[in-house]
Amino acid sequence: MYVRGVGPRVAETLAAKGIQIAEDLLYHLPFRYEDRQNPRSLDELKAGETASVIAEVRGSILLRTRRMPIFELTVGQGRHALKCIWFNGGYLQGKFEAGQTVALYGRLEPSRSTRNLKMIQPQFEILPDASDDAETRLLEVGRITPIYESLGGNRLTSRWQRKVIFNLLDSVRGAVPECLPGALLARLGMPPREAALREAHFPPEGTPFVQLQSAATPAHRRLIFEELFFLELGLELKRRRMRERAGITFAASDKAREAIREVLPFHPTAAQKRVFGEIVADMRQPNPMRRLLQGDVGSGKTIVAFQSMLVAIENGYQAALMAPTEILATQHFLAARKLLERSSRKPRIVLLTGSLDGDRKRHTRGLINRGEAQLIIGTHALIEEKVEFDNLGLVVVDEQHRFGVLQRFKLMKKPGQPEPDVLVMTATPIPRTLALSLYGDLDLSVLDEMPPGRTPIITRRVPGERSPDVWDFIRKQVAQGRQAYIVYPVIEGTKDDQPELDFSRDDTEVEMEPPPRRAGSKARTGELFPLAAQEARSSTRRGGSGLKSAVEMHEKLHAGPLAGLRIGLLHGRLDADDKDVIMRRFQRGEIDVLVATTVIEVGVDVPNATVMVIEHAERFGLAQLHQLRGRVGRGSARSYCILITGERVSPLGEERLNAMVRTQDGFELAELDLTLRGPGEFFGTRQAGLPEFRVANLVRDRQLLELAKQEAARFANHTSAEVTEAERARVWARLKDSWQRKYGLVEAG
Ligand code: ADP
Ligand code: MG
Repeated sequence: MYVRGVGPRVAETLAAKGIQIAEDLLYHLPFRYEDRQNPRSLDELKAGETASVIAEVRGSILLRTRRMPIFELTVGQGRHALKCIWFNGGYLQGKFEAGQTVALYGRLEPSRSTRNLKMIQPQFEILPDASDDAETRLLEVGRITPIYESLGGNRLTSRWQRKVIFNLLDSVRGAVPECLPGALLARLGMPPREAALREAHFPPEGTPFVQLQSAATPAHRRLIFEELFFLELGLELKRRRMRERAGITFAASDKAREAIREVLPFHPTAAQKRVFGEIVADMRQPNPMRRLLQGDVGSGKTIVAFQSMLVAIENGYQAALMAPTEILATQHFLAARKLLERSSRKPRIVLLTGSLDGDRKRHTRGLINRGEAQLIIGTHALIEEKVEFDNLGLVVVDEQHRFGVLQRFKLMKKPGQPEPDVLVMTATPIPRTLALSLYGDLDLSVLDEMPPGRTPIITRRVPGERSPDVWDFIRKQVAQGRQAYIVYPVIEGTKDDQPELDFSRDDTEVEMEPPPRRAGSKARTGELFPLAAQEARSSTRRGGSGLKSAVEMHEKLHAGPLAGLRIGLLHGRLDADDKDVIMRRFQRGEIDVLVATTVIEVGVDVPNATVMVIEHAERFGLAQLHQLRGRVGRGSARSYCILITGERVSPLGEERLNAMVRTQDGFELAELDLTLRGPGEFFGTRQAGLPEFRVANLVRDRQLLELAKQEAARFANHTSAEVTEAERARVWARLKDSWQRKYGLVEAG
């Protein structure tokens, strides 16, 4: 379709932004609105608020300060004036003329010199005057004006989009096909598609502004619902398909029960019992299990997995456990061996990881292939090394967030064999409603109870200057027979290009204002746990943005503050055998202090370790901090998590650190993480195989997500007579189209 204002060059730029057809442009909604019907008066503005105002240009000046050029614009309404400031604003010189009317949107701050406010780095538009054409004036002035995210360059501005979309809406008037059943819309009180699109772009006069800003107008709700409905419908279909496939019907026999009873090292918690019950119920069904097991760090997922695998083995099938790292796979392997020592049946357990030498790999693959190994533990190698199982019955994927979602479907069965059952375990506590809706193709079990005897972990945040106190504290703990981890963000050197580095995004954020020079950033003294009194500054501190690294700090701690202790070093660049040796020695208590990178983040289980020190803690994401902290507090002794911060902590970093100190509840932290990072980052859209949404926002629109899920299930049930055949056909057509275009995941039908 030809869209006025879009030539081949522009079309190319748009395509790069994911806007390929006219419809995409229609679903590219404004990200905010300006109420230019009722503009704010300058004298009612308050410091701290983000406001939109319309005023007249009085004058401007470029101030060349020592640090940077600052562009200052003065605007006014009658006798009131307002200063606007842009740092590095050289590019704005010559843009404004006295007498022009401008719309400004930005944050207001008190000005140091005068009593007036100033607006910092506002977004602006110079409004059209009588010399501009009528259409431009119509779209910009005296109305609720849509503001779009720039689509690139100087050209595809908000103003440009306004015009193009306005014209497009005009040319498709009466011709936008409805894609949802009429009765459904009527029942939910939602407007038809075309009206919704029109009103979301150009809200009619009198639309409540608050509703607009929170995407809660009927038009918005309709479009968000539509997007989520098709997502949920697709998931619903996937799940139905899976249910139709031939799976294995396991028996939960007395034999299996006995096999489990004789190896269980402790009484399972009520939650573990319940979840295991849910898993076994699935396994006894004739169709394949697809279940997600969520449980916060330390909730005891591993034993549930082993129990389930024993059921499969007792039924004469092989069971495989796939872990995200070699360290973890090895740990599971050792744990399984220890556990099954007590078994009277002695199933054969093998470990397959990428770093095994060729001969051993071949040998292990042979054992698996001939059915001589019953319990197979490994890493990605289980998929990558083209392992052929003899009769695989159950696959457990541990710490799912480290795997791409798609990989979990690449199953390792022989052609013609029934689909094995799959249990995915994750320690990322996704809020329940979200998990249910997003992993609609998986059933959900939640371990919501910690094993008994845990004491809460004491978490403290300390500035780098106080690290000597921390080293002292570690010495005392070690003297009591305990062990400690010290985690660094990088392996070696100070560069940010190393594999373990997984900094959260906001550390690259631009600062709006040059940071105020903090007077007296000296160390605070005060009790830590309590630690010893303040000592001399650590010699390991470096100026600038230098990061301490695991390798370097291992040496320094060894030579200085922790001399005499047995210190190990663990990071991703060591070869697998070395990692293994170090990890085992730590596990056996032959190493007191393990200096490491985030390789220890997932799953490592050493109950005697009671101290987790994280240096440059402000650099880590919330989920990561929580996972790291979960490495301690696994036994009954009191455990500590010490977050050492560097010199500059961004506002988001502050929030993360405060949250860590405040709570240990994984779900609460996940909620916050989701809010701070947004759903895309939180789920790692690409990694998780999650769609990018055009209008929906998973944090904001959770209720609509629930609604969409219910309605999708209802639609798929074919039960409602309210839907006509023609409408049904249109929904399927749309589903096919949208899943293929947007998610590229399934062939919907
Ligand atoms: P995660 O869910 O993080 O994988 P693990 O399975 O590693 O947790 O279990 C954490 C620790 O709790 C382990 O040391 C494990 O042996 C112990 N544990 C698990 N279940 C129980 C239980 N029911 N009673 C006592 N200790 C348990
Ligand atoms: Mg685990």
